Amino acid sequence: MEWKIPLSDIDFGPEEKDVVNEVLRSRWLTMGSVTQDFEQAFASYVGARFAIAVTNATAALHLACIVVGLKPGDEAIVPSLTFVATANAVRYAGAIPVFADIVSEQDLNISYHAIEKAISDRTRAIIVMHYGGYACDMHSIMELAREHNLRVIEDAAHAVGSELDDRKLGTWGDIGCFSFFSNKNMTTGEGGMLVTDNEAYAKKLHSLRSHGMTTLTWDRHKGHAWSYDVIDLGYNYRIDEIRAAIGKVQLGKLSANNERRRHLTQVYREILQECSPQITIPFANHVGISAAHLMPVLLPADTDKMGFMENMKSQGIQTSVHYPPVHTFTAYDVGRGKYSLPTTEDVAAREVTLPLFPLLSDENVVEVAEAVAQALGKT
Ligand SMILES: *Cc1c(COP(=O)(O)O)cnc(C)c1O
Repeated sequence: MEWKIPLSDIDFGPEEKDVVNEVLRSRWLTMGSVTQDFEQAFASYVGARFAIAVTNATAALHLACIVVGLKPGDEAIVPSLTFVATANAVRYAGAIPVFADIVSEQDLNISYHAIEKAISDRTRAIIVMHYGGYACDMHSIMELAREHNLRVIEDAAHAVGSELDDRKLGTWGDIGCFSFFSNKNMTTGEGGMLVTDNEAYAKKLHSLRSHGMTTLTWDRHKGHAWSYDVIDLGYNYRIDEIRAAIGKVQLGKLSANNERRRHLTQVYREILQECSPQITIPFANHVGISAAHLMPVLLPADTDKMGFMENMKSQGIQTSVHYPPVHTFTAYDVGRGKYSLPTTEDVAAREVTLPLFPLLSDENVVEVAEAVAQALGKT
């Protein structure tokens, strides 16, 4: 399908091609100085002591769950209004995801009160997800976690560059996980990053990323080591030098691109409020600086959402849904009926995501808003 306005698009130019060519010329393709360079640049950008690059954010979340000590029988509290990987990661570690509702139709993030209610003797961790790059209530959640001795993992897949009180998201909890998938704010195609200030966690993450081996091919190439031991049941979750090189260039573009996303979000708000006042636009009174990853809107409850999305499609505009709630999936049948998440279910039924990416023009936003008004009139 050729969209007139797609949901998202990447900002790639000759800069990315140049650094990829440099890596190819160097003849060293995985886990070398380019990856280390990317990790250092990322750590310093978010203000974390350690950054560990991995193959994607799902792998990052899996490793985070292992490193904070989730074990079979343990519970971790997670939102249901998220991408399925947030909850899957808990299950990879053998633990049980326990779903908590979101705050309201204005704040689509996990609710502090719902987390508090979901805590049991078996709870070991909380995974928060900063929806669209808008910060969860980290002050209250961290305090609650301290009171109950719980670890906090941030799924910051939407939130690269987001801040709350001058502190970057991903650095509030024990471990932060970022995604560089193709449609995220910065991309390497597939890619992810873990950040932490905890040295023991960082050491373990380095080990688990690469089969639990004590030395890497790189060390042996450099003549630093001849052999290795295997000290953990590790994985191959490595990134390669090609993607790390792209990541460093993308990181350099991030601040300006996020600023552009925030501007476009503001334009959307103003026009939509005027021409389609029956629509709810979440995060109106959000505190903090959002990476503005998504442009979610909530249709009136009586609107036929599929008809609306079909109409937008007929006008050449791609829309999406973030998210079908995880607790309603077939693979999460275990929880079906067990969870009452009324706000999550209400919001998910009404939510539509509009196109948002830095290369979108202000005029494009006007076009989308006009298409929304037309689609609403027809459905
Ligand atoms: C994209 C995304 C992930 C998974 O990221 P990958 O890098 O594709 O594995 C996890 N959580 C959320 C909220 C996401 O949006």
